[in-house]
Amino acid sequence: MDIPFLDLKGINARYADELKAAAARVIDSGWYILGQELAAFEREFADYCGVRHAIGVGNGLDALSLILRGYKALGALHDGDEVIVPANTFIASFLAITESGLVPVPVEPDPDSFNLDPSRMAAAIGPRTRAIMAVHLYGQLADMVALGKLAERHGLLLIEDAAQAHGARSGERKAGAFGHAAGFSFFPAKNLGALGDGGAIVTNDSVLAARVAALRNYGSEVKYQHLYQGINSRLDELQAALLRVKLPYLDKDIAWRRQVAKRYREGIRHPLIRLPEVIDEARHVWHLFVVRCAQRDALQRHLAAHGVHTQVHYPVPPHRQLAYPALHTLQLPVTEQLHREVLSLPIGPTLRSEDVERVIAACQSFQDVA
Ligand SMILES: *Cc1c(COP(=O)(O)O)cnc(C)c1O
Repeated sequence: MDIPFLDLKGINARYADELKAAAARVIDSGWYILGQELAAFEREFADYCGVRHAIGVGNGLDALSLILRGYKALGALHDGDEVIVPANTFIASFLAITESGLVPVPVEPDPDSFNLDPSRMAAAIGPRTRAIMAVHLYGQLADMVALGKLAERHGLLLIEDAAQAHGARSGERKAGAFGHAAGFSFFPAKNLGALGDGGAIVTNDSVLAARVAALRNYGSEVKYQHLYQGINSRLDELQAALLRVKLPYLDKDIAWRRQVAKRYREGIRHPLIRLPEVIDEARHVWHLFVVRCAQRDALQRHLAAHGVHTQVHYPVPPHRQLAYPALHTLQLPVTEQLHREVLSLPIGPTLRSEDVERVIAACQSFQDVA
């Protein structure tokens, strides 16, 4: 039998009874938007992240956009301000910036950690730079201590795109608790996934929290009184109730992902396959296990022939997408090489030990085709 890249059905089947009971509770309550389930989930998720506030929104992209919009409304950002962002991220990080009237300044990542390299960023900081959007790519925390110092020295906002990193830790702090604010996604395939779209903003900034809570709900704090020109982007009661079922299991799932990653890193010893570098186990929650291979497409075909399904995160970087013609002139060779070489192996809480061994054996049998 083939090994799927990710078995979403199996993941949710583990707590099907609890999920169905939670859904029934919401259905029977007669209250579907901005109710007790969301309030409870916001409390529980804020506690999990170790921050004061969590605000549930419609998806991860809106979480990031609303943070930027919120800071604009509070006067900390203005139209045309520049936001530094890693060039090798998922396009949502860029979209949040451009749809907020801000300018993305893509910088090359550290090719070993795939994350922003604080030592390479000084050159990207100019007179219009106002914020850094750090992305904890593939589930590994960026170097938030160094980025925090850099942000402080230059008076910049530090925003975390934590969509792939729920629960990643450095010391006592978790993803979402390092920057001024962070955006999370609960897209079904994320480490904490809803059964539909969902997202959250977390922050210790009470003023921002109040503003984004209003902005996600038509700019309103009191029904039919509109203080701001907001949007409609709310985490609904059903998704909040389902996420409340899954949140208590998240740390156990992360522990298993770490076991799988450890086994891959021990077992895959191949001259053509470069393993991901890990700075500290606690910092990585292994949303994705990404290897690099100069013959990536051949490796992917080889694994598929052995029943191992893989994916590429991501085949085309944002600055090469048709959506961003103005960025096509940028030369970002590190990023472009990464996009040619990265391959994501199966990883997830339902991947079995015997599957892991099969993936390793399939990798080991890959032969040079060059
Ligand atoms: C998934 C993801 C997002 C967007 O989340 P959605 O809920 O799909 O809108 C943003 N940034 C990164 C890095 C992601 O992986």
